[in-house]
Amino acid sequence: MNSLDELIRDIPDFPKKGIVFKDITTLLGDVKGFKLAIEKMCEPFRSMHIDAIIGIESRGFIFGSPMALILGTKFVPIRKKGKLPGKTLSKTYDLEYGSNTIEIHIDAIESGENVLIVDDLLATGGTVRAAADLVQSMGGKLVGAAFLIELLFLNGREKLSNIPVYSIIKYES
Ligand code: AMP
Repeated sequence: MNSLDELIRDIPDFPKKGIVFKDITTLLGDVKGFKLAIEKMCEPFRSMHIDAIIGIESRGFIFGSPMALILGTKFVPIRKKGKLPGKTLSKTYDLEYGSNTIEIHIDAIESGENVLIVDDLLATGGTVRAAADLVQSMGGKLVGAAFLIELLFLNGREKLSNIPVYSIIKYES
């Protein structure tokens, strides 16, 4: 098997000029690679008490749901505005151009529950910061945020201040 980072494909200038998109579909297409990625993402949390894993739409669902099954926690989706059918809490945050709104069901997390946020990639940290704000406003205790990939040069960790960040594949540039 190739190493995990060899299974990530760079797509230059997607979705716009100047962005190098980290394509994980090549990793998902490799049975051993996908399994290893999930195992590695679970590793730091095996001895922790976690009540809920939150996956951020949509690639956070791909990694977050198998992690929830392995770690024996519930899985809670955070979705783009207008997708969740029940009563929701929303958070709007700024993107490079424009803004984005994410939502969570108001009864998805109980106050005091230990929550781990999962996404495929940490870039500027805006998305995970907004997810963390939603969890904290519901009284959830954030035990960490886990990513397959971290783009270190965008300093996303800084937005998460005291929340521990775990990532498997780190890019310096
Ligand atoms: P951010 O809010 O800047 O941390 O962006 C995180 C979200 O955007 C994640 O859900 C990623 O899937 C996606 N994303 C940002 N930059 C990239 C990239 N270079 N390649 C792939 N996905 C990206």
